[in-house]
Amino acid sequence: MSEVVDNILSCQKAAFGYDGHIVVRDLSFAVQRGDYLCIVGENGSGKSTIVKGVLRLINPLQGCVYFSQDIKTKEIGYLSQTEAVKKDFPAGVSEIVLSGVVGSMGLRPFYTHKEKEMAGDTMKRLEIFNLKGRCFRELSGGQQRRVLIARALCASRKLLVLDEPAAGLDPLATQELYNLLAKLNHEVSITIISVTHDIQAAIKYASRILHIKDNQYFFGTVSEYIRSDFAKSFFTNGGVENV
Ligand code: ADP
Repeated sequence: MSEVVDNILSCQKAAFGYDGHIVVRDLSFAVQRGDYLCIVGENGSGKSTIVKGVLRLINPLQGCVYFSQDIKTKEIGYLSQTEAVKKDFPAGVSEIVLSGVVGSMGLRPFYTHKEKEMAGDTMKRLEIFNLKGRCFRELSGGQQRRVLIARALCASRKLLVLDEPAAGLDPLATQELYNLLAKLNHEVSITIISVTHDIQAAIKYASRILHIKDNQYFFGTVSEYIRSDFAKSFFTNGGVENV
């Protein structure tokens, strides 16, 4: 009997780019429910462009992107690269976390009790509940990133899309963030798509890897990736056996 595949997202022969100029072409991959997909590749290879294409912030120039029926693009938890490094939001922690639900509110101009409760529970899960009365810009980089991930979680309990979530964090805060994401992926079964430069972390935490390089790409499981030429070429020591 064949295994039933529960794809949350499927990208088929897609080309993404700007003003008719293609950055990434002929891209096909699928994300299954519960996956942790890391998108890796050098600067400028098109990782953020793929994320924007998947989220329909830009339209595919060719091919298509499908989501499973229960996923509304407005309700995907998204942390963009620009937001991740923004340190000076003049807003409070609770306000920022709660604003994650805005995508599902329609025209309603107030938060419901249930939404406030969910924001509180999310802050507890991310161990930032004690910061709820603080101003965002007074927090450490690691605390700020937790606040932004809590906001993304308020937008969606199903799919988080994170573009360089660890950018600018020190090694300890980076490690804590990776552990947090792994915990959310395992314990809450949330599907994660994350752009990262950190290939060793991708190998350690991801279930699948999408590696973009020179208009070509690899997509597969971590063990398939480790054996691939894409992984070998990424490490100057010529292999990933030592990782
Ligand atoms: P990465 O995330 O891998 O660093 P990007 O997806 O940001 O790469 O960029 C891929 C290519 O697309 C780069 O050549 C970049 O200059 C170009 N690019 C990115 N954003 C835009 C944009 N808004 N308009 C035009 N070109 C862009």
